[in-house]
Amino acid sequence: MSNKIKIPFNKPFIAGKELLYIAQAVTENHHTAGDGPFTKKCQAWLEERLGCRKVLLTHSCTAALEMSAILAGVRPGDEIIMPSYTFVSTASSFVLRGGVPVFIDIRPDTLNMNEQLIESAITSRTKVIVPVHYAGVSCEMDMIMDIARRHNLFVIEDAAQGIMSTYKGRQLGSIGHLGACSFHETKNIISGEGGALLVNDEKFVERAEIIREKGTNRSSFFRGQVEKYTWVDIGSSYLPSDIIAAFLYAQMENTDQIIAQRNLIYSLYMEILRPLAEKGYIQLPFTHTDCRSNGHIFYIITRSLKERMALAQFLREQGILALFHYVPLHSSPAGKLYGRTTGTLEVTRKVSDCLLRLPLYHEMKEKDVRSVAGNIKKFYKCSD
Ligand SMILES: *Cc1c(COP(=O)(O)O)cnc(C)c1O
Repeated sequence: MSNKIKIPFNKPFIAGKELLYIAQAVTENHHTAGDGPFTKKCQAWLEERLGCRKVLLTHSCTAALEMSAILAGVRPGDEIIMPSYTFVSTASSFVLRGGVPVFIDIRPDTLNMNEQLIESAITSRTKVIVPVHYAGVSCEMDMIMDIARRHNLFVIEDAAQGIMSTYKGRQLGSIGHLGACSFHETKNIISGEGGALLVNDEKFVERAEIIREKGTNRSSFFRGQVEKYTWVDIGSSYLPSDIIAAFLYAQMENTDQIIAQRNLIYSLYMEILRPLAEKGYIQLPFTHTDCRSNGHIFYIITRSLKERMALAQFLREQGILALFHYVPLHSSPAGKLYGRTTGTLEVTRKVSDCLLRLPLYHEMKEKDVRSVAGNIKKFYKCSD
């Protein structure tokens, strides 16, 4: 494969003022440690736009998930229900506390955890349900929250991919007890590495601040609420430098434009590829009418592993980079060691074999989208 990539899979978007704000943090604010002016601006922005009780910036979504596991009081042997078709941190954050991931299958339409399978996976050790909003498309949150209420469980939303997506008008990450989002370079809104813990239940706010500050009451101390700054609980260093927050704030100011542009590309893919889906060659993404998505990932599902490999190879020969996604966690070495599976996970296996993610980035031109989609049609010898 010596030919050059003409259409990459992703190109991180730079809004324009990132370096200006970093310079401001360094030379004007003289605050490069955590919780400086830019961190406060980002947190206020997220609290307002997402409608969360409290937002705390973290250095990654993984950090926010680790904090959630501590806040939910996960202890060795406690079970955490989650999909197997997800990123490692969804599970590893709970395993760090001795939790046991219990992997359930996903829905064939949204590729999110199949809410119908949750109740049969619940045991006396179950503590948390972790809905992962794959590709920025919402899980069935009403049903998940209802099950959690009836069984007295916590819901921690892995909204790493969900920024600005909604479920029945509510922002993803703002519905469960806690939520985690990511600003990793591969996501929609970025700061290289970055994330946020979304606290929706008042009772977690104070302890969340303590856990994020190495287990100290530093935050209350700076607000003048306590006289001494001291070690009071377990915790770690989960806060990002204000330099990272400065970068992130420049992105936040452009959020609406970033999401609109991604959704435009997404819709164009949908429109051009629809005939292939109608003919039964591929499956296209599905978003329920109650939900609004953020155009995070555009994928197609082929009929077999062999067909996906051949299609990816065909696109690569045209200079187009399309990628598959997760190795299901239940089939990974650590997933087998630390987790448990319920059911056959048939859909997970199929999707892991057959899903192909297409290029999608802010600078992508209409002609590039047409070229990718056109080549897929060519592969299937479809002339519509
Ligand atoms: C990206 C991602 C994460 C991890 O985010 P980081 O900010 O890199 O820690 C976790 N879960 C899901 C579903 C993700 O897509």
